[in-house]
Amino acid sequence: MFRVVYCPASIRAGRAGPVRERCRALMKLLLVEDNFDDADFLAASLRRHKVDDVALSHVATLRDATDQLKSHSFDVVLLDLHLPDGSGMECVDAVQAADPATPIVALSGKDDEEFALSILNKGVQDYLVKWEGQTRTILRAIRYAIERKRSEMRLNYLAQYDPLTEIPNRQYFHDQLEKATARARREGRKVALFFLDLDQFKIVNDTLGHNAGDRLLREMAQRLRGSTRAGDVIARLGGDEFAVLLEGIRGALDAEAVAQSILEMVAEPFHVEGREIEVTTSIGITIYPNDNSDTATLLKNADIAMYQAKEQGRNNFKFFTERMHEELLEYHNLENDIRDAISAELFSLVFQPKVNLITRKLQGLEALLRWNCPRRGNVSPVDFIPVAEQSGHIVPLGHWVLNEVCRTLNRWQAAGTPVVPVSINVSARQFQQADFHKRVANVLNHHAIAPDLIELELTEGLLMEDTDSAQRALQQFRDIGVRISIDDFGTGHSCLNYLRRFPIDVLKIDKSFVQDVTSCEDSSIIVEAIISLANSLRLDTVAEGVETREQMNFLIDRGCHVAQGFFFGQPLKERAVRPYLEDLIDDAAGFATARLDMSEIA
Ligand code: C2E
Ligand code: CA
Ligand code: CA
Repeated sequence: MFRVVYCPASIRAGRAGPVRERCRALMKLLLVEDNFDDADFLAASLRRHKVDDVALSHVATLRDATDQLKSHSFDVVLLDLHLPDGSGMECVDAVQAADPATPIVALSGKDDEEFALSILNKGVQDYLVKWEGQTRTILRAIRYAIERKRSEMRLNYLAQYDPLTEIPNRQYFHDQLEKATARARREGRKVALFFLDLDQFKIVNDTLGHNAGDRLLREMAQRLRGSTRAGDVIARLGGDEFAVLLEGIRGALDAEAVAQSILEMVAEPFHVEGREIEVTTSIGITIYPNDNSDTATLLKNADIAMYQAKEQGRNNFKFFTERMHEELLEYHNLENDIRDAISAELFSLVFQPKVNLITRKLQGLEALLRWNCPRRGNVSPVDFIPVAEQSGHIVPLGHWVLNEVCRTLNRWQAAGTPVVPVSINVSARQFQQADFHKRVANVLNHHAIAPDLIELELTEGLLMEDTDSAQRALQQFRDIGVRISIDDFGTGHSCLNYLRRFPIDVLKIDKSFVQDVTSCEDSSIIVEAIISLANSLRLDTVAEGVETREQMNFLIDRGCHVAQGFFFGQPLKERAVRPYLEDLIDDAAGFATARLDMSEIA
């Protein structure tokens, strides 16, 4: 049963302009009420007041109501809570399920007003006690209900959608993932979860500005929508991270096909602000229930797999595996052990000589970290430094190194031992601290160490990441008087332009080139090029990793006059460095030669 019980006269008569326009301003009410007298009473009072912007339709059962709501749109549902086929909250639930967007005004009798009041906020926007009050009051309640529903929906939207891309946000995605895995569990089906991260999005943002970055993200959201099916959920998790949820897949093969098409679609050039930009993405995939976990873990697993995809050259996808999980556990173990070792002071320093190849004198030392872990034995910095960097432990650890170096220099000076400059390796995280130069100055002050006794070794990548702030930071060190060396030079991708602008002192030629100079033409050409570049920029060069006399001679011939490597000496404990330093007191001419010969024999 469905009947229109009231429609404004103007519409019936076709007056007041085109019907369609009138209809747009018309408020369409659906009255769900099994008592026909009540329905007719409301229609009669609308008629009596010649209300001209309301149309009232009437159904008498929940069943008819849900049918109507599914096929037509209404502005408000007036819902009696005692119907032949349902009562109370049941009625509300059924109406909501049929159309979650339509506001509900519950109709109660005098005796169940309390109940009506109690279900406000449970999907019910307002209630009316039948038919107390004037028609106008009733209509006002209805209008308020519509307003309330609108703002509710708006808030819901804001809570669930990412305003920039207008696709679901992390919260909503979590909820959907939860529901999808529950469904998959019940129905014995599979769900694939993709975690996407744009490659080098930061570069776009930094070079073209945030507006361009925003446009790119919006376009990305659209493309994702285009390469998935209607039922798939896509979301922006934050920054340049997106997620995709595929339900009802048969297995990895289906997921692979979708991943492949996403990669291809992203690889098409983007047109942003009159420019053509090429972007790629890395995708981590996990499949439920193959990786049987709760939703938070599933997201984390997909994230881990995404990192693997990035590490293996970007612009590809990787499925999560148990092996990745184990690596992550190992990472966390190592991270914990590093934290413990910092507080237990299990780290120590060794010092490797740098030798002047012309004067054969000791020219400096490089401080290198050593970790003797009770459980693991000696751990190489090659293994623990990256973990310390990623976890942030490098900041306190690096601070400890700086302190320890200054304390050692101070001890030597107090004992009357001559000293040489000591270089310290500095990680990106340390260098990027806003007050890093102040920390360094404080430590120098505290131990009364002259700034030119300290040289900081930085890597190229670190400086090229954000060249402006790097330049500022370098200048601050120049002002303090600390020397700066670029470590592992030649392995990064330095822009010569910046190199010229940066206030630096030394290029340290990476050992991978030095070790091949006598056997590989490319390496010898690179080393020659670095030396002549340094000369033209008036920078010193230090060759690291020198292991043979031939390598040393090559360097002397080409004009690189300072070297470091096993040929001259292994990194030494403080105790073992002293004799080297003490030899400086005498005429040092014979010193390095003697050491050289010894190291050749050893
Ligand atoms: P690096 O700064 O390039 O340090 C030189 C590395 O080469 C040292 O390894 C050193 O022992 C090794 N080496 C020296 N001479 C030779 C040689 O003739 N042949 C060969 N094959 N190797 C040579 P180590 O001590 O294992 O340090 C490895 C890396 O760990 C360092 O590379 C540096 O990046 C990092 N590291 C070490 N100590 C610290 C530190 O205190 N702070 C930070 N941030 N990083 C550190
Ligand atoms: Ca170094
Ligand atoms: Ca190095």
